[in-house]
Amino acid sequence: MFDKVLIANRGEIALRVLRACKELGIKTVAVHSSADRDLMHVRLADESVCIGPAAAAESYLNIPAIISAMEVTDAVAVHPGYGFLSENADFAEQVENSGFTFIGPRADTIRLMGDKVSAIEVMREAGVPTVPGSNGPVDDNADRTLALARKIGYPVIIKAAAGGGGRGMRVVHSEAALLKAIYVTQSEAKSYFGSGVVYLEKFLENPRHVEIQVIGDGEGNAIHLGDRDCSLQRRHQKVIEEAPAPGIPSAVREEVAQTCIQACKNLKYRGAGTLEFLYENGQFYFIEMNTRVQVEHPVTEMVTGVDIVKEQLRIASGEPLSITQEDVAIRGHAVECRINAEDPVSFLPSPGLVDLYHAPGGFGVRVDSHLYSGYRIPPYYDSLVAKLITYGASREEAMSRMENALDELLVDGIKTNTPLHRDLIRDREFRAGGVNIHYLEKKLSL
Ligand code: ADP
Repeated sequence: MFDKVLIANRGEIALRVLRACKELGIKTVAVHSSADRDLMHVRLADESVCIGPAAAAESYLNIPAIISAMEVTDAVAVHPGYGFLSENADFAEQVENSGFTFIGPRADTIRLMGDKVSAIEVMREAGVPTVPGSNGPVDDNADRTLALARKIGYPVIIKAAAGGGGRGMRVVHSEAALLKAIYVTQSEAKSYFGSGVVYLEKFLENPRHVEIQVIGDGEGNAIHLGDRDCSLQRRHQKVIEEAPAPGIPSAVREEVAQTCIQACKNLKYRGAGTLEFLYENGQFYFIEMNTRVQVEHPVTEMVTGVDIVKEQLRIASGEPLSITQEDVAIRGHAVECRINAEDPVSFLPSPGLVDLYHAPGGFGVRVDSHLYSGYRIPPYYDSLVAKLITYGASREEAMSRMENALDELLVDGIKTNTPLHRDLIRDREFRAGGVNIHYLEKKLSL
């Protein structure tokens, strides 16, 4: 196992990684911006290094500063968390070229999955169901493009191959609008992502977002840890997640999971990953793969008992998977509410001093948060401040525990979206299970 790991992230995920390292007897290095000296995990780490000013571009995204911090502290590996440099193939490559270990997939895998056109191709070859579409980039032959879209059937969605974060997409409802929309999306994609490559997909009107957690050892062995439903979203940002996804026949679930494992085996996938799908009318459609740990990984941990971050550390250090597929059993149900420092109505960020913080507790309650009383939330970063996770033998038990947990949570001094969660968790349709990705925005617009 590694002697010392550098955590190239901040907030709750940095603390999550620190806890896993400590359990495995690994020494830890926290890196932070000058605005983040008071982060919880910085206090708990064995060593800490300030890597730059508040702006993420000069600190958490500053590759030379992070690699220097590894050199100075003798860290042997780096855990990137999620966001920031976690899916940056150049970072992974530079880390490995400098003689350190990147805790994640190989750089070429990250690059392959970062291009959605090549990702879809790899998945199709493995038998993973994908959205009917162009199966490759749109070229400048207008007649061919029009014929293709007609075959797919309107509405279609134009998507940037290099897109991410819900940007670089455009829905087209009629042939008359197609070519102009492609042109606009291409130029936007070029300026946002540096690549104007776009492709077409059938636009699914009322899908759910269901994703599958996988882990590979980098040698061709891979397992899945079941699925999660993350359909409650606002502006493509997930708000509540749960595992397992409710109401999906087990044969359908198992069949798609098997194709995911096949894809990971073909890729000799290393580490944790997530295949994201849209699910509509009983069918799964792959949209993209995330090559990192996800915000919502705890719901999977709660129903499988597998510590995904410890598994990442073990695999990166060259150990085999600690479990086989036969060892994985999905038991009970888990739900996660993302608590953001924001106004629950306007959604404007609400950074500042947390006068008082009180975390909920009790049977089946887990809180992943870096908050403490007297902590000042800086205005420069993501507004996620806590993840409330509850577990129950049944979905209903997990949900009623979440009602209690939300009622017990106290964060004074700033605004949080807790009132929205209290409302959502008691929402009749959500409680019935299986709402689609438009449900939350429709409810908010009423
Ligand atoms: P990003 O990498 O930007 O998150 P995704 O490919 O994951 O992009 O798509 C983001 C969201 O856009 C999906 O969760 C879904 O809401 C919507 N979306 C993407 N593709 C389609 C599609 N073919 N039909 C309907 N909605 C889609």
